[in-house]
Amino acid sequence: MIGQETTGAAAAAAAAIAGKRRLTILIENDFESLGVGGKLRRALRDVGYIQPTPIQFQAIPHLLQGKDLLGIAQTGTGKTAAFALPLLQRLDDENSPARPRRPRSLVLAPTRELALQIHEELTSLGRYTGLRHAFIIGGVGQNPQVRALAQGLDVLVATPGRLLDLAAQRHLDLSEVSVLVLDEADRLLDMGFVRDVKRIVAQTPETRQSLLFSATMPQEVVTLAREILDDPIRVDVSPRQITVKEIDQRVVMVGNGDKQRMLEHLLRDDEVSRAIVFTRTKHGANKVARKLEGAGIGAEAIHGNKSQNARQRALRNFKTGDAWVLVATDIAARGIDIDAVSHVFNYELPHEPESYVHRIGRTGRAGATGAAWSLVDPSERNRLLAVERLIRFSPEEMAVELPPRDSAEPRRRPSRDFVRSPRDQRSGTRRRERRRRRQPAA
Ligand code: AMP
Repeated sequence: MIGQETTGAAAAAAAAIAGKRRLTILIENDFESLGVGGKLRRALRDVGYIQPTPIQFQAIPHLLQGKDLLGIAQTGTGKTAAFALPLLQRLDDENSPARPRRPRSLVLAPTRELALQIHEELTSLGRYTGLRHAFIIGGVGQNPQVRALAQGLDVLVATPGRLLDLAAQRHLDLSEVSVLVLDEADRLLDMGFVRDVKRIVAQTPETRQSLLFSATMPQEVVTLAREILDDPIRVDVSPRQITVKEIDQRVVMVGNGDKQRMLEHLLRDDEVSRAIVFTRTKHGANKVARKLEGAGIGAEAIHGNKSQNARQRALRNFKTGDAWVLVATDIAARGIDIDAVSHVFNYELPHEPESYVHRIGRTGRAGATGAAWSLVDPSERNRLLAVERLIRFSPEEMAVELPPRDSAEPRRRPSRDFVRSPRDQRSGTRRRERRRRRQPAA
């Protein structure tokens, strides 16, 4: 949904949808009809993006016209390319070389993982532009970052803490930032970055183009958006539709003392090819991962107390299949872009219902179906109600019988057959459902 009247290429594209003959033209032109130039289209072909996603379709024409934007979208919607394409195009068209220490644009992200992913996307989409970009994150040495800044950057992707550090040391000057992107603004604020964000924005020129993306719109984000954006276009890609339509959501009521056993039992289902388990705390993530390993289930924990190298290693092991279960806290998992996650398990429900939407959005991506199970103990009933109110839907409560305590369940090897067609996944889910329905209540 766009808050202002649709104009330009977006209007042409929307009009094209109205008639069949014109629709053919739209499909042939795709990104071109949105105004994306030749160098970027070549890169799009390389990475295999053929059709713009809804947020790209709605945002790109306006951003190319220099409008500010408020994007309500989570990771998995294609939001990175939605801002990266017009950003790269604008910088390439302007063709004014970046000066040392004065980046021409800035993308702020809450986590190191998200910053790295944005940087990767910029690298692949910008490969034919010759534009220079780099990322600045904490937890690693600052010298290579200082050197990159000194060379002059067209796009700087950064987490707030290190950015302010380097600015305080005068390695960085934000006075020539012409485009500012705040990605996952709700998470930036959740993580206590509100003052840092405001300090950073204050160092950029008022004439800049500003974009703010957020999966949810709590009052603090609304206030921040008002302060930062000037007459923005509003694009809303509702996560509610995603949660309800594409993800098979289940709840199992279980006593707290039985959660680990229940998790292991559910993970042993053949349908689970790659899973993310969410815990509320870092300590909880370590404990669950350790116990899974002990039970013969290859697992890695990822959370903010781990060094950057340890996090990257955990992600790599998960991507390659050496560990097929990733146990994560909300913050660490935000923005992780891994396809073919067949299942998400909420070992505990999150404090904020919005996090539930983010968590289950790790599965059911790129057109595949996914399944999300929440293990809910009696103390979490109110949290479950809050989630149900938010998503306007009650996930089905399943009765799953646990095997007797002393029975040894089989050790499971990781399946390397990660990518199944959505159809296979669906039929598997139905089979599993039938099996479970036959089982008596625990
Ligand atoms: P994002 O929401 O930016 O994290 O993107 C989610 C995933 O969608 C990433 O793996 C992107 O590479 C992919 N993606 C983004 N845009 C497109 C597109 N137009 N066609 C196909 N895949 C896309």
